[in-house]
Amino acid sequence: MKSSASIVIVGGGVMGCSLAYHLTALGQRDVVVLERGGVCSGETAKSGGFVQTHWSSPHEVRLIHWSRAFFQEHAAQTQFQPIGYLHVTGPEKEASVRETHDMLLGQGFESNWLSPREIKKLQPLLRVDDLSGGTYEPSSGWAHPLATTRFFAEVAQQRGAHLETNTRVLQIAQRNGKIQGVETDKGFLSAPIVVLAAGPWTPQLHPNPALPLPIMNKRGQVCYMDRPAGLPRKELAFYDEVTGIYTHPDGDTNLVGLDWHFEPVFGPDHYDGEIDHDYLQGAHGALSHRFPTLAQARPVRGLVGIYDFTPDGHPIVDGPIGLEGYYVMAGFSGAGFKSSPALGLGMAELILHGQAKTVNLDFLKLNRF
Ligand SMILES: Cc1cc2nc3c(=O)[nH]c(=O)nc-3n(C[C@H](O)[C@H](O)[C@H](O)COP(=O)(O)OP(=O)(O)OC[C@H]3O[C@@H](n4cnc5c(N)ncnc54)[C@H](O)[C@@H]3O)c2cc1C
Repeated sequence: MKSSASIVIVGGGVMGCSLAYHLTALGQRDVVVLERGGVCSGETAKSGGFVQTHWSSPHEVRLIHWSRAFFQEHAAQTQFQPIGYLHVTGPEKEASVRETHDMLLGQGFESNWLSPREIKKLQPLLRVDDLSGGTYEPSSGWAHPLATTRFFAEVAQQRGAHLETNTRVLQIAQRNGKIQGVETDKGFLSAPIVVLAAGPWTPQLHPNPALPLPIMNKRGQVCYMDRPAGLPRKELAFYDEVTGIYTHPDGDTNLVGLDWHFEPVFGPDHYDGEIDHDYLQGAHGALSHRFPTLAQARPVRGLVGIYDFTPDGHPIVDGPIGLEGYYVMAGFSGAGFKSSPALGLGMAELILHGQAKTVNLDFLKLNRF
């Protein structure tokens, strides 16, 4: 392992690797990424990979919009599939769906309001009798989280970054209010700048107890269901406000998620990794309600992961925080993948130029809490 670097990134998930990609693109080659396992061995590996702009805040939507163009530009590497994103609702939640739709149009972004009849035409498999409408983004879809993270890591390495896998950071070292480097299980690595991008492990490595990170780790689940043979293969990424189901095709299966309660976990390495039977039943019931022809679908795999929630559901992408040379990318609240290209670029600009210029990160500062 190297003994010094200009910038050390802790965590080789999609955030750490996106940052390394963008730092090296901007000319900073003396970058080391430290990862305790392999590239993408944390929460990114469990991500559904949804990329859609139907999201809550205009600031975050701009990050996703920029990122979607990046996913599209590098579609061969990120395996981005712009199969279209359909977000349906019943009368109860129509107002809030329309609000997001109007916000997207106000930003100049794509969003098409569809009647139940138009929804049925777009996706004939859907039951629409309890729907009042929905929005459709033809350019959205999903990208492959592992392929994307590996792409970031490989390009960063080609440009000169070092990636140290199977290297665990034990402590971030500081003296007199300045970052000194990191203590690892393979020795000390000195650096004036350390970026902590360790997903749900971030709070336990945070070196500044005077400025705590308000991140609460919670257990989340998704599953994969096989698809009965003989279905018309209209592919769509889909979210349903009525049943809480979200799904997109993935090979011969469908990823299926369900809005479900999140239980707090008190250590990212100590939680129940078995999917709940109730969750599987709920997901199957909701899927069969909305897609009656999928009633024969059977779960083939469940994934349990951690969502690192902040109080307002937006991440902390900020620095220096409390210590000279200390930066944080964390708290993505279960939705970081879709913005990861823009967040990596913004953080790289913040570190190298003192401010994110291409994208706005001001709303992600820690001092908003
Ligand atoms: C089930 C699930 C589904 C999701 N679906 C979506 C979706 O559809 N769309 C979307 O936009 N987002 C989704 N997300 C959220 C998204 O996946 C995350 O926000 C994103 O992957 C976070 O990336 P990260 O790099 O911060 O974290 P991670 O991928 O967890 O990376 C952190 C890395 O740090 C490493 N690390 C930890 N401790 C140390 C240490 N001491 N030393 C060295 N390395 C260390 C870990 O091994 C890990 O590889 C989902 C999340 C989950 C859990």
